[in-house]
Amino acid sequence: MQTATTVAEVREQVRAWKREGLTVGLVPTMGYLHEGHKSLIVRAAAENDRIVVSDFVNPTQFGPNEDLESYPRDFDRDCKLCEEAGAALVFHPEPSEMYAPDACTYINMDALTHELCGLTRPIHFRGVCTVVGKLFNIVTPDRAYFGQKDAQQLAVIRRMVRDLNFGIEIVGCPIIREEDGLAKSSRNTYLSPEERTAALCLSRAVFAGQKMVEDGERDAATVLDAMRAIIEAEPLAKIDYVKMVDFDSIEQVERIEDAPVLCAMAVYVGKTRLIDNFIYEPGAAA
Ligand code: AMP
Repeated sequence: MQTATTVAEVREQVRAWKREGLTVGLVPTMGYLHEGHKSLIVRAAAENDRIVVSDFVNPTQFGPNEDLESYPRDFDRDCKLCEEAGAALVFHPEPSEMYAPDACTYINMDALTHELCGLTRPIHFRGVCTVVGKLFNIVTPDRAYFGQKDAQQLAVIRRMVRDLNFGIEIVGCPIIREEDGLAKSSRNTYLSPEERTAALCLSRAVFAGQKMVEDGERDAATVLDAMRAIIEAEPLAKIDYVKMVDFDSIEQVERIEDAPVLCAMAVYVGKTRLIDNFIYEPGAAA
């Protein structure tokens, strides 16, 4: 497995692969990799000849009071995980390689990005779309892999690829959880032992809401009230949002009808903001 820190190195390697007729999969990450990221790389390796993992804490998707500086980093450990999972190249640029000091071009989306996480993190999706668009241009993958853990991001990237004709297949992958249910996240390392226990209220609420919907409840407010009650019973937890939206448009729904819905939440546990969700696709096998 190779590592690269420059755009030029990545382009040269990908060109060589393409000359050989090989397909390329891309897994964009911010590093500090865990089993969730690994599942994306393993899936990508099963479906493509060569896998590029990007490992870059992207400054443009962090707001001024967010955790850019403290975001955990361990590149050596990340490389081991990437190699085990079947990656061929890890792209680990410095911010200065990705953004010229006078960079002023961004990908802005008019819809989808103002709801859910976009309300609390107003510039987040502009940063995500811009860096993912840049990675798509640098790597020119056949397929790119994103986790349902960040379900709004998955919907946003799908829309961006459609609207801007990137011609890349976007593959969504299921949420990988700890044994006790907590969705795996690089940010779980911020939690104290008490907060780690308290954080289980997210997955408990997700599983309860999912069961209600699978058992036939169709009124969004009824499901959301039950989920909020589970989180509010946890003193260390503070809800940012718990909402039900159409998974394609990210617009709120009152009733679960024929289209896939995303039931998503962001919850502060202490100072750490965690997210979790479930997607319900009517007609899909349970
Ligand atoms: P991040 O490094 O947090 O930006 O995540 C990189 C990619 O890994 C995103 O597509 C995430 O949705 C995905 N991911 C992160 N955590 C998980 C998880 N627990 N299960 C599945 N995918 C995940």
